[in-house]
Amino acid sequence: MTEAPAVRQQLAAIPDLRVVDDEPLARHTRFGIGGAAKIFCDATDVGSCVAALKAMKESGLPHVVIGGGTNLIVADSGFAGIVLRYSGKKINQAGLRLSAEAGAYLQVVVDLSVSLGLSGMQTMTGIPGYLGGALYGNAGAYGQSIQERVESVLATDGEDVLSFTNAECEFQYRDSWFKSHKEWLILSATLQFGMGEVVELQKASREIREIRNKKYPPTMKCAGSIFKNLFFANLPPHVQAEVPQKLVREGKVPSAWFLEQAGVMGMRVGDIQVATYHANLIYNDGAGTAADLVTVVKECKKRVADRFGFELEEEVQYVGF
Ligand SMILES: Cc1cc2nc3c(=O)[nH]c(=O)nc-3n(C[C@H](O)[C@H](O)[C@H](O)COP(=O)(O)OP(=O)(O)OC[C@H]3O[C@@H](n4cnc5c(N)ncnc54)[C@H](O)[C@@H]3O)c2cc1C
Repeated sequence: MTEAPAVRQQLAAIPDLRVVDDEPLARHTRFGIGGAAKIFCDATDVGSCVAALKAMKESGLPHVVIGGGTNLIVADSGFAGIVLRYSGKKINQAGLRLSAEAGAYLQVVVDLSVSLGLSGMQTMTGIPGYLGGALYGNAGAYGQSIQERVESVLATDGEDVLSFTNAECEFQYRDSWFKSHKEWLILSATLQFGMGEVVELQKASREIREIRNKKYPPTMKCAGSIFKNLFFANLPPHVQAEVPQKLVREGKVPSAWFLEQAGVMGMRVGDIQVATYHANLIYNDGAGTAADLVTVVKECKKRVADRFGFELEEEVQYVGF
């Protein structure tokens, strides 16, 4: 294993790579929670990003890739290793395609597609974070998800830069090939769209934005939904019998329903609060800690398991635990 100072020197020698010591990760998570990363690197071009990933891996130190930090729970003790963020933000249009770097804000991609009359991401308005994070977790909302737009994805393991087809990304609900291959970093994607009417796309996007702004006020320190929804077909028969059919959409039941039945709405530990209007929304109401956040998440899971006999699965990702 390379000593931290040695890899620190290697990283500092990579052109166009910003390297910071003991960077508080609370600054980089929407929860506003998380201790310091021993070394934090920010790459804005592909070459420096690939070189940084290679150095990180060879160092043998723990390392993790992050994007916009909107789906992360970072430990109060931080991360005793190297954090790499790729924040290249270029986007190019060619006909019905947009090619975007993984550090582009998803919202910028959505807004651009809408303004160009490209149809297929207009209901994904209001999902925060970077394109890379969205590809990793196959983000989606209101009937659209990134998987339907992906033509190809460029990613690196610190050695090679490879192109993945849509099929090779193995997208599933809030899942992709990259979730089970964390050694890879997504660099960019080419997205393909249908043709739409700008006015119609803007209207759809605006309506969803209004709904979302009420549910998730822009300043709310949260990660959106904490738990994944559940496929109705996979639920035990006794649970299926209890679920109101009107709740089943695209074959899924909102985990909020199970959480609500289990009585977690409004639960609070320290400054961590389960929303009183949405049981799958947990937020930091002030000076919340990761310890309290994890306590609340565990208690939610326990109550659902006690009441229904199965475990909810987190959509949110953990760093430093
Ligand atoms: C208010 C609010 C509302 C939300 N609503 C939705 C919603 O409607 N639908 C939805 O799907 N999600 C939603 N989310 C969750 C979140 O915004 C998405 O999951 C988002 O796509 C995460 O992107 P990020 O860049 O912030 O990723 P991060 O939180 O930084 O990282 C998430 C995971 O992605 C990995 N990752 C990030 N970038 C890369 C990369 N370049 N290469 C490889 N791995 C990478 C990280 O290692 C980590 O495991 C919401 C979150 C908030 C705060």
